Amino acid sequence: MTTPITPLIAGNWKMNGTNASLAEVRRLSELLTATPPRCTVVICPPATLLAPLNAIAAPSGIVVGGQDCHPMPSGAHTGDVSAQMIADAGAQYVIVGHSERRARYGETDDLVRGKAVAAMTAGLTPIICVGETEAERRDGKAEEIVAGQLANSVPEQIGQLGIVIAYEPVWAIGSGLTPTSDDIAQMHGTIRRLLTERYGEAGARSRILYGGSMKPANAREILDIENVNGGLVGGASLLANDFHAIISAV
Ligand code: PEP
Repeated sequence: MTTPITPLIAGNWKMNGTNASLAEVRRLSELLTATPPRCTVVICPPATLLAPLNAIAAPSGIVVGGQDCHPMPSGAHTGDVSAQMIADAGAQYVIVGHSERRARYGETDDLVRGKAVAAMTAGLTPIICVGETEAERRDGKAEEIVAGQLANSVPEQIGQLGIVIAYEPVWAIGSGLTPTSDDIAQMHGTIRRLLTERYGEAGARSRILYGGSMKPANAREILDIENVNGGLVGGASLLANDFHAIISAV
């Protein structure tokens, strides 16, 4: 019998959070210590909070992740943070290719793939984001777009640590809108098929997260869908009670 895939719930704090926000992490740690989660729990705070958050969160099993990394290990890249630095701060994961970075900073699939390789080289598991825009879905191109992003953003070798894919329809992020369960099942099924064709067993066992307006009210329904192995959660990860409710829905 094959071991089931351990689900993963990751919180993306985006550009939110100061030292004061660590109170929410202390609260979440208490809740998870009282009721251990049935999934891996990751928080991706701004880079300034990686180390202090890790110190608070690690005893309760919460893992820390970065929100982005540079493809190079070091050098003259003012303002950037390398995967090594993120790992050195105690992180185990890093998000790459979030749609906000693809859209606002013109990040291409090639760059995202370079970041994913840098993450793996530094010993981090990359959470590689893919997803179509509203217009692309309206034009019936959602699967084509996501398949192209997967083909070009995911490295050729995925190594021991593996990868995590986050399917995040751009139009669902921060909008309160979500695809239908059928649409999520269809897309996650396609992603699973493509990963398995390309990576065999490693692809069959990669975690595929859903992201986009996941909330306590819809988490259970979304997490029950086949090939949904967890969630990437933005807004609802900022408050301990909301994030805990999503974690508890696993
Ligand atoms: C995200 O930014 O990755 C995200 C899923 O945001 P939200 O949950 O707020 O839609």
